[in-house]
Amino acid sequence: MGTARVAPLPSRQNGGGGAMSSLDAILRGADAKTLAPGHVWLAGAGPGDPGLLTLDALSGLAQADVVVHDALVDKRVLALAGPQARLEFAGKRGGRPSAAQEDISQRLVALARSGLRVLRLKGGDPCVFGRGGEEAMALAAAGIPFRLVPGVTAGLAGLAAAAIPATMRGINQAVIFAAGHGADPDDAPDWAALARTGVPIVLYMAMRNLDKIADALMHGGSPPQTPAAIIASATCPEERIRITTLERLAVDARDENLAAPAIVVVGDIVSVRERLLAVARGVLR
Ligand code: SAH
Repeated sequence: MGTARVAPLPSRQNGGGGAMSSLDAILRGADAKTLAPGHVWLAGAGPGDPGLLTLDALSGLAQADVVVHDALVDKRVLALAGPQARLEFAGKRGGRPSAAQEDISQRLVALARSGLRVLRLKGGDPCVFGRGGEEAMALAAAGIPFRLVPGVTAGLAGLAAAAIPATMRGINQAVIFAAGHGADPDDAPDWAALARTGVPIVLYMAMRNLDKIADALMHGGSPPQTPAAIIASATCPEERIRITTLERLAVDARDENLAAPAIVVVGDIVSVRERLLAVARGVLR
């Protein structure tokens, strides 16, 4: 075991300088992962707050020649790209025809083939409602070496921002992540079936169809009084949290002007927030 490159833990004695050398060792040490020319890292940028980037995503930003990002990648994160990096926007907005996805995949292939170090950066986790799977498939089919770098998905970041645990003993032993955009009705989840599980549901891309989704869940047997929360722009300066009930979800979202990007969570787990805040009395930051 080589010890020379193991940086000391930060301590009061060294004034925290150790923390920097640990970071340096991860980003540039012998074990640092190389984003090689002609390779692609398909990485998650987390929900917004740069503190929620992985060290591998940060390392990719430092190494990339080109960063191909989507609309949800926070500008504070993009600001961490190295001076050599060209930023290229290749986002998709909800509702646009899916043909654009093929263009994005082919763009990644072309950039890699031209010998660039390519960081494909997506909001949250690249493979949670992020089309990371399709892009990985296209890279694989084209023979482009690539890596998947996970990220903190908005569902989990949104729950944490609202002090709602994703699971809690005595309340739930499972969590559902579901997409609520409903662009293609045949592709929509079977809301009644999800409701019957009684498991908390974390909804992405649901703001436009909140009334329909809430109706479908109630129709499927979810009690109208089920606690629910909307967390808009989680971990961003404009973050907003609204606690409500399933039956009031759509009305409250409208009245409070809550808009995408937002995570909606429906389930008894939401009520833990209130208990937690009551006990925490100021210690929760
Ligand atoms: N790959 C992303 C999800 C992309 S789908 C991830 O893992 O997080 C886009 C949806 O993600 C948005 O409609 C919204 O529901 C959610 N989202 C992304 N960033 C968010 C944020 N900062 N706060 C709340 N929701 C967010």
